[in-house]
Amino acid sequence: METTPEQEMFRDAVRSFCEREITREYVRECDSERRAPVELYEKLGETGWLGINIDEEYGGAGGGAVEVAILLEELGRVFLDLSFWVFRAVTWGGLMIGTFGTEEQKRTLLPKVASGELSVCFSLTEPEAGSDAASISLTATEDGDDFILNGQKVFTSGFKVSDLDVVATRTDSGGKKHHGITNFLVDTKAEGLEWQPIETLGHWPLGTAMLFFDDVRVPKANMLGRLHDGWRDLGVSLRYERLCLSAARTGAAKSALADALQYAQEREQFDQPIAGFQAVSHRLAEMQMMTEISEMLVYRYASRLDGGAATTRDAAILKLYACEAYKSVADMGLQVLGGYGYTMEYDLQRHYRESRLGVIGAGTSDIQRNIIAKTMGI
Ligand SMILES: Cc1cc2nc3c(=O)[nH]c(=O)nc-3n(C[C@H](O)[C@H](O)[C@H](O)COP(=O)(O)OP(=O)(O)OC[C@H]3O[C@@H](n4cnc5c(N)ncnc54)[C@H](O)[C@@H]3O)c2cc1C
Repeated sequence: METTPEQEMFRDAVRSFCEREITREYVRECDSERRAPVELYEKLGETGWLGINIDEEYGGAGGGAVEVAILLEELGRVFLDLSFWVFRAVTWGGLMIGTFGTEEQKRTLLPKVASGELSVCFSLTEPEAGSDAASISLTATEDGDDFILNGQKVFTSGFKVSDLDVVATRTDSGGKKHHGITNFLVDTKAEGLEWQPIETLGHWPLGTAMLFFDDVRVPKANMLGRLHDGWRDLGVSLRYERLCLSAARTGAAKSALADALQYAQEREQFDQPIAGFQAVSHRLAEMQMMTEISEMLVYRYASRLDGGAATTRDAAILKLYACEAYKSVADMGLQVLGGYGYTMEYDLQRHYRESRLGVIGAGTSDIQRNIIAKTMGI
């Protein structure tokens, strides 16, 4: 799929922003100090790109999925956690609120998402409901003008920088598990909501958290989408999430490849650059092929989304391939650097750590294979 000249101009603009505003040292600092890039996010808010997929009447740029993919790929190339922060704005803000929100929610929240004033995260996973996500049990019980939430969530990423959390709850347990799910916009500072950071292998700047809901009162006006039928709304957002995460990781994979290629051309052993050894050059060729296929799948899916023709299988193939590719590219890239790849002096170790999440989070690779097989009638 070819992008238009306007879309490539947009890519150039994002690239220039990244070159101007983000240094390698800054990214490393945020990583090692586990510090969220707050000032960068504010600058992104000034560009208007955080509202890339928000309708113009709500303060956004009215762009489509291809523009979203370009933005996330280019940001992912330099700073994956920043790209993930933006992914949450476009998925749980622009897409989810924009598609399923009430007029009031759209009018009050979307302009703030677009300006960067308001950040949104997402809580679906629970200790007993991971891959089997529809089996969630955190309850929301009606009480006058409110719902009262009780239960636990785990792995809510970006919670520490978020103002609102899209929380999937159980509002009816009488029928099938996919029925009786309702989503709410919950204030992250709400009374009765406690959180604890979780130590992880990577993605340190934004982090992830365990949440405890103890009689958390949420106004009915904060219900997002349909009562009891939230699973269907989530399906739309989760497929969009697959595009966003894959685009960001494709950018990151390109950066891992660029680092490994440069190193292989500069590093000499046996009186020649190591890139000249077939074992190394074949590894780099494999990495090149994988990133190009990821890129093709990202823009194929994005254009199908824009054309209204995207399928569940397309989303699963994209997520599966792009995430497995990033993991392999990071692994092979680290190998190209030999012992130096294993040190904290180079960025390949960060790619190696962060790429590991891709095949686990947002539906593991096994689950993507299950989805693909199901669409084949298996
Ligand atoms: C760093 C991090 C950030 C995350 N961020 C978020 C977030 O922001 N919001 C959120 O809601 N969640 C988030 N998650 C949760 C993530 O989506 C889940 O971890 C993931 O869906 C897997 O669930 P689980 O960890 O409970 O593993 P399990 O479901 O227990 O799976 C364990 C193993 O069993 C396999 N398995 C399970 N069922 C099947 C099956 N039917 N067929 C074949 N294999 C199967 C899995 O593939 C896996 O290998 C995050 C997770 C991590 C680690």
